[in-house]
Amino acid sequence: MTDLFRHLPAVTTVLEQPDVQNLTRLVSRAQLTDCVRTALNQVRSQLSEEKVDATVESLLRTVVDEALRQVSHLRLRRLNQVINATGIVLHTNLGRAALSDSAVERLTLAARATNVELDLVTGKRARRGAGVEDLLTQPTGAPAALVVNNCAAATMLALQGVAGGKEVIIARGQLVEIGGGFRLPEVFEAAGVILKEVGTANRTRIEDYENAINDQTGALLRVHRSNFRVSGFVSEPSAAELVRLARKHQLPMIDDLGSGCVASLSSLGLDEPDVATSLNSNAELVLFSGDKLLGGPQAGILLGQSAWIERLRRQPMARAIRVGKLTLAALEATLEEHLAGEAFQNVPVMAMLATSADSIKARCEAVARAVKDCELDVTVTTCQSEVGGGSLADQTIDSFAIRLQGQRPDDLLRALRTGEDRVLARIENDAVLLDLRSVRPEDDCIIERSIRLAGQHD
Ligand SMILES: *Cc1c(COP(=O)(O)O)cnc(C)c1O
Repeated sequence: MTDLFRHLPAVTTVLEQPDVQNLTRLVSRAQLTDCVRTALNQVRSQLSEEKVDATVESLLRTVVDEALRQVSHLRLRRLNQVINATGIVLHTNLGRAALSDSAVERLTLAARATNVELDLVTGKRARRGAGVEDLLTQPTGAPAALVVNNCAAATMLALQGVAGGKEVIIARGQLVEIGGGFRLPEVFEAAGVILKEVGTANRTRIEDYENAINDQTGALLRVHRSNFRVSGFVSEPSAAELVRLARKHQLPMIDDLGSGCVASLSSLGLDEPDVATSLNSNAELVLFSGDKLLGGPQAGILLGQSAWIERLRRQPMARAIRVGKLTLAALEATLEEHLAGEAFQNVPVMAMLATSADSIKARCEAVARAVKDCELDVTVTTCQSEVGGGSLADQTIDSFAIRLQGQRPDDLLRALRTGEDRVLARIENDAVLLDLRSVRPEDDCIIERSIRLAGQHD
């Protein structure tokens, strides 16, 4: 045993091994040295716990293998491109909306010096976000717009700026948790407004709101139940009814839509409240996310009446939650795709939702044919895709998937996830499913390659 300790290779010896040398393409020298040190410590402690079966001759190989594993983990902990074959189009853990080519290009260009606060025509200072605000107000007819970090921030800013210190009335059935612990009662508290719940879990009437209004009331808030549905004996007032009541008492109505559906999805058989309807109801403020159905970068978008938007713009909090130039660049390009009527072709979220099950089936069959001689059992099956991202709860879309069997599904899932292409799939009925709805067609060849590689991991 002690003998083995004495034979542990030096850091420099490990670094000189060809397998380790090859890794200098992938990580820095300093990172590689760190990985080798960690590997040596690992093997040393395994030796002391007698958990490693090594001889003097095999010890170097054991350390090298451990170093390779450390480098692989280091690389997997970076922000990597992954292939989303989960069938969940807006996957929160995978960064929600994948951006359009034009958005990727625009944000890459803006990454260098850019005119984020400069008007190139006049040479004078310009307001950050002014260009994007125009792209938001022109097509929607909203008088004014403001873009902040995300919709959670937009909600806090709206509550604080419009009704700080006052009461905000909300239906009990809309007191939701969005996810990740974002719970509305806590948001109210953090924004410094007093929560006034009305109605019951399933039914709220306009009179419930009316009876709750007093001289302490600062606003009415409507929140879309993005991630769950209530059905059966349910009712609540429409946005228009709430706006009418709010107007009567000179109060603003804040409408938190969440998903930000700008193009109607009804042609796809999907039902989601849209921005236009909310604006038509004349809500003073309409809020939604940039990275859900809009298909852009993470952002919180506020549309509404100029006086309210200007008031929010002047809040100190607005500065704390402002967006960076990369977000603005990507959002600008995304909005231009919508404005040009190209969203269903060029904005991946829209394109993926609009893809027919038949064309997904054809893609699955092509991949299955291409890998038919691999070591896995590969078939094509029907499945259901989800929109995800807390949108369209309960509504699924008919789709097709490549079904893999032949190893333990957990092992196969891991091999795909940690392989060179980092493909995310799911398990259903003891088989691994790769739903191509959430995969860009140009990435089908990557799916092919990763199936072959995962098949070799037996
Ligand atoms: C998703 C969602 C939010 C949070 O949006 P983020 O952009 O993730 O901060 C807020 N409200 C509703 C109704 C939502 O659906």
